Amino acid sequence: MENLFRLQSEQKFTLKNTSVRERKEKLNKIYKWIFNNREKIKEAIYADFNKPYSETDLTEIYPVLSEIKHAQRSISKWMKIKKVKRTFTLFTYSAYTKFEAKGIVLIISPWNYPFLLAIGPLISAIAAGNTVILKPSEISFNTTQLINRMISELFPKNEAAVIQGDEKVAEELLKLPFDHIFFTGSTQVGKIIAKSAAEHLTSLTLELGGKSPAIIDSSADLKSVAEKIIWGKFLNKGQTCVAPDYILIDKKIRKKFTDLLIEQIKTVFGNDTNEIRTNHNYPKIINGHHHKRLVEIVKNALSNDSKIIFGGEYDAKDRFIEPTLILTSCKECKISEEEIFGPLLPIIEFDKIDSAIDWVNKHYAPLALYIFSNDKNTIKKITSNTESGGVGINEVVLQFSHPNLPFGGVKYSGIGRSHGFFGFKEFSNERSYIKSGSINFLKLIYPPYTNFKQKLINFIVNYL
Ligand code: NAD
Repeated sequence: MENLFRLQSEQKFTLKNTSVRERKEKLNKIYKWIFNNREKIKEAIYADFNKPYSETDLTEIYPVLSEIKHAQRSISKWMKIKKVKRTFTLFTYSAYTKFEAKGIVLIISPWNYPFLLAIGPLISAIAAGNTVILKPSEISFNTTQLINRMISELFPKNEAAVIQGDEKVAEELLKLPFDHIFFTGSTQVGKIIAKSAAEHLTSLTLELGGKSPAIIDSSADLKSVAEKIIWGKFLNKGQTCVAPDYILIDKKIRKKFTDLLIEQIKTVFGNDTNEIRTNHNYPKIINGHHHKRLVEIVKNALSNDSKIIFGGEYDAKDRFIEPTLILTSCKECKISEEEIFGPLLPIIEFDKIDSAIDWVNKHYAPLALYIFSNDKNTIKKITSNTESGGVGINEVVLQFSHPNLPFGGVKYSGIGRSHGFFGFKEFSNERSYIKSGSINFLKLIYPPYTNFKQKLINFIVNYL
């Protein structure tokens, strides 16, 4: 590890000074590898948790290819020196900013979108001119092996390398004085990363989790909302950081809406438990630990003011959990406090929009907040009185995939931003330059401070 870090230290200034053309070429190499190895990527992720091939195309391969294309199209603009306006007191000076690579960066990624969340940040880091050490999740073992092969085929070790292993390996890596750390994972581990980064005062990006609510009022188009919620919630079997974690719905429309949700689940996944269980488009829970955790959430809810209105079947052997809708009013249960990260959808009724807002604000600011309403005042009231990394108005999940939007959380759901220009910026030091002109007027106020100089200083303080 230390040897690799030393090799990258020797290379960092060479990479920092690479041209637009050289960086585009690197991005192109990555693009071609991914495009030519699409089947291998799908097989690896399927081996990890039976993710359907089409879903891998849509949510792992396409977003990464589109991130590369976006960077290739924009990188010359991003790398351009940006002149800043002259000021009256410094009118003989020119000043500008330049995005320079931070240097050696560490990327630690999770298992839930094992390819996208490892390679997405890598693209931004490489576009910004950094060397990279990448530690993918040990849980999505097959995808990690493939990523290792990909990076070793594309880059010499002193430019980019993969280190495989669990948290012990990550803890060793974190002892090194990286120039930036980009972490995607749980809030709990995010805190450990932040403490380690503090040791070297390393800048960091934390892309974390949380409970993203979907608030639905009586003006919403319920059929369309049901379609969107079922798609966004059960994509990747609920193991998505920006999935709607729970629903807050006006009591008057709750029954109508949950009937539509049930109809939509049947249309998308199958009419009964057996059809859903044998549906190849319904992936598994990643491992036994997470399966057990989800079953515990259901059991805990059922013993506290909650009832299942659809689903509820599970099987540990197959790591299967049926799409499960749970009507609850329990504020202190696991279902209302923990990030669910699985195919369980709690539904909470409200009488007034203010109580929905109160419910949201009892939790930490989420990564996403979804509002389903056609009433401008309601939308304004919710956005003005809540916090979150992103907002979806009559939409779910798509804020993640818009290349011109910054992606990230707030406090416990994350620090910093990623994607497109915002990812490039995160991996760059926005360096300020000032260049002296030929005449130095500032000499007039250098000490010793005579009466004349004091008058001049008074003039500057009062009028400029
Ligand atoms: P995790 O925090 O358990 O693990 C993430 C990575 O951290 C893995 O590579 C793991 O090996 C490493 N790790 C674990 N313990 C560590 C330690 N003590 N020190 C250093 N590294 C350690 O997360 P996970 O279970 O892989 O992923 C699920 C979580 O990630 C959820 O909370 C989800 O919301 C979040 N997530 C967030 C985003 C986002 O973009 N904000 C995206 C996907 C997932």
